[in-house]
Amino acid sequence: MTQQQFNPPFDRSAPCPACQHEVRSVSALIHNLLNRCDVGSSTIRDGKAWVRLWDLRHTTFPAALTVPHPVADELMAVGRALVEATEDMTSDGLTIKGSAEIRARVEALIPRAAAASDAFNALSVMHFDDQRHCSGSHQNILREWKGYSWNGHVPGANLGGEYNYTVEVVSEGGDIAHTACGTHLKLHDHFKQNIARDPEFYGQVWCPSCRQNVPMWQFEISEAPHA
Ligand SMILES: [Zn+2]
Ligand SMILES: [Zn+2]
Repeated sequence: MTQQQFNPPFDRSAPCPACQHEVRSVSALIHNLLNRCDVGSSTIRDGKAWVRLWDLRHTTFPAALTVPHPVADELMAVGRALVEATEDMTSDGLTIKGSAEIRARVEALIPRAAAASDAFNALSVMHFDDQRHCSGSHQNILREWKGYSWNGHVPGANLGGEYNYTVEVVSEGGDIAHTACGTHLKLHDHFKQNIARDPEFYGQVWCPSCRQNVPMWQFEISEAPHA
């Protein structure tokens, strides 16, 4: 019997560990903690780090990963190590305190936490770029997309940065054509890579001539887009 895959990302590639809610929560809390640290010098930068650590102590870690993955495993392990390192933290309801010993134990874990957080970011980007992960009923819409993405915690790792995924109207050729209005579109490689990996990645396309989102099936793909 052939095993069918229903898990995101729905394209028969490996299922996504970032779909698990508790994993994303722990990831977000570690990310927030690192924003209060100076990763380069492995030090806690400001007092809000204690609040972040308090939050991490009070979050629910997943009992098990629904999708076993070494990167998610390491992130959960470093999260648990941070919880252990802060075992004797105190709060009187107003201020959260940590001793010099706790600070030293946490600071020793910063490089490992930063590396794990940056590695998990790649999985997280894939997760949030595909609307179908969040809800099976959502469709990805192919349209021009630009902005800045997060640069990572580890200095010099050069994650993210500026992106500008273009969709150009061309008089002929291009990569896809709207059969209803005859508009040809030339796509940035980002879109072509997604379509090549998963022909059903995009459910809809923004047609600049029709000025609306139309179903992907109304488009003719000029030639199999390749990455
Ligand atoms: Zn996912
Ligand atoms: Zn159109």
